[in-house]
Amino acid sequence: MKWSETYIPTLRDDPAEAEIISHKLLVRAGYIRKLAAGVYNYLPLMQKVLLKITQIVREEMNSAGAQEILMPVLHPAELWLQSGRWHTVGKELMRSKDRHDRDLVLGGTHEEVVTYLIKGEVKSYRQLPLNLYQIQNKFRDEIRPRFGLMRGREFIMKDAYSFDKDEEGLKISYRKMLDAYFKIFNRCGLDTRMVESDTGAMGGKAAHEFMVMVDTEGGENIIFHCDSCDYAANIEKAGSLETETPMEESKEKPLEKVATPRVKTVEEVTAFLKVPPRKLAKTLLYKADDKIVAAMIRGDRQINEIKLKNALGCISLEMADAATVEKITGAPVGFAGPVNLKKVTIVADEEVTRLRNFVTGANQNDFHFVNVNLGRDFNIEQTAQIRCAQEGEGCPRCLKGKLLTSRGIEVGNTFMLGTKYSQALGANFLDADGQEKPFIMGSYGIGITRTAQAAVEKFHDEAGIIWPASIAPFSVEILPLNVADEKQNQVAFEIYEKMKADGIEVLIDNRDERAGVKFNDADLIGIPLRINVGAKSLKEGKVEICVRKTGEVISVTPAQAAEKCKQFLVNL
Ligand code: ATP
Ligand code: MG
Repeated sequence: MKWSETYIPTLRDDPAEAEIISHKLLVRAGYIRKLAAGVYNYLPLMQKVLLKITQIVREEMNSAGAQEILMPVLHPAELWLQSGRWHTVGKELMRSKDRHDRDLVLGGTHEEVVTYLIKGEVKSYRQLPLNLYQIQNKFRDEIRPRFGLMRGREFIMKDAYSFDKDEEGLKISYRKMLDAYFKIFNRCGLDTRMVESDTGAMGGKAAHEFMVMVDTEGGENIIFHCDSCDYAANIEKAGSLETETPMEESKEKPLEKVATPRVKTVEEVTAFLKVPPRKLAKTLLYKADDKIVAAMIRGDRQINEIKLKNALGCISLEMADAATVEKITGAPVGFAGPVNLKKVTIVADEEVTRLRNFVTGANQNDFHFVNVNLGRDFNIEQTAQIRCAQEGEGCPRCLKGKLLTSRGIEVGNTFMLGTKYSQALGANFLDADGQEKPFIMGSYGIGITRTAQAAVEKFHDEAGIIWPASIAPFSVEILPLNVADEKQNQVAFEIYEKMKADGIEVLIDNRDERAGVKFNDADLIGIPLRINVGAKSLKEGKVEICVRKTGEVISVTPAQAAEKCKQFLVNL
């Protein structure tokens, strides 16, 4: 392609809307343009990247035995009512109505539709296993669309669904998908780490996520992994060994209410009372479905809302608003405590049950209790691990190692669904024993657009993007440094034509621009190899091949250029 005939609107400055580097670079390098929050146009270079990723995904899915289909984006609400997700997914579900006022869903995932599709059609165990997939735009009304393509409201996903006759079959189908996923991300030039994850609204027994590990802000997920075994889980799921809190004080002291004027946060209160934060128990009020629940964790811990939600078994969970907190506790936010707290269920993290003579809010403005003791001063309804794991805690698997944290971008995930959807929709088959049974299902997603951006978040420098060759929009970019120079133009176009004939994807920057502008743009858009055709090297009958990733530069004759580029590309 000639640059002059391609729409590559590069920008000199960072767009104001972008927070993370990959988002900035994709906008600046002319890959994407925003239409609305979380909704983007994919420009020619981006579309090429997306098609490359899509092709890799397609090849690996096909060779794993999955079959490509395309399901509708528009779903009748009835299916989502049948599965229960019309209610449980809540506001993230993109809803619409037709002219007859009938409810519709814009698909954000297709368990309901694919289950309905095979219901009554796939009748016998002999037709199993079956794995159907599609690559399609998905819609989710994300609470916080951000970071460009990382968290969009419309984005491209590959979603696959497996159907088996029994658990054994599901395990095999699941394993095949895990293997395919490792191959897909490897081929995209991305090292991924598979971690255990929570099954969430999707339901089912086990789930894994594929993470691209990054050390930048774009890594939205916190991953815990053990320093001595292969345990790895995301923060939602990660367990940790209870660090036994020694009861420094064996005797219960008398409960005391103390004035804590204008001190509210854990840091302020514990500094004021001269106790370490782990001797304070935070009491956080939540609305769990229609009930108000008080969750207690140690002052030095973070609450894990997913674990809390699982412990409570509720469908929706959100922090109680300030008005509710005031109504329930009689005090503004920041002073809630378990003593004399009426009409709420109290769930305490297991660590809280081992505290003695600790600090809590007093349900009164500017007051805290000290020397609070469970059993004497208040009671709880439930104990569970509802805190987030923390770095340095013990590994819950090998019980020996320590947990370390790192950041990751979730590019894919897999769920062992079991019969959740087949049962809800009445999708059964006839087994060899003549019994009717619900399909055992799995579901497997890959964010195509997120994967593309994850590659940029992972591979860039201060000058721009550095694409892995397998998903780069072009393999080589040729730069005649001065298009007014007949000789440079001629040599550049000869190399260009030869490369095209050789099947190398090549872009030629034939714009009448200064060399500096072309160099900057070339670095920005991140094509793996660049060929400089300039007066100086041409004098010696040479052109320069520059490797974007390593900065390596070699001189070759124009006739050698294509062959040399091919050799480089194998390793990029
Ligand atoms: P997340 O935890 O990031 O919200 P998810 O668990 O909701 O992801 P799935 O429903 O399993 O994700 O979707 C499969 C894949 O689709 C994810 O692994 C991710 O790569 C991609 N994906 C999910 N939501 C978005 C989004 N809003 N924008 C872009 N890609 C997304
Ligand atoms: Mg999500």
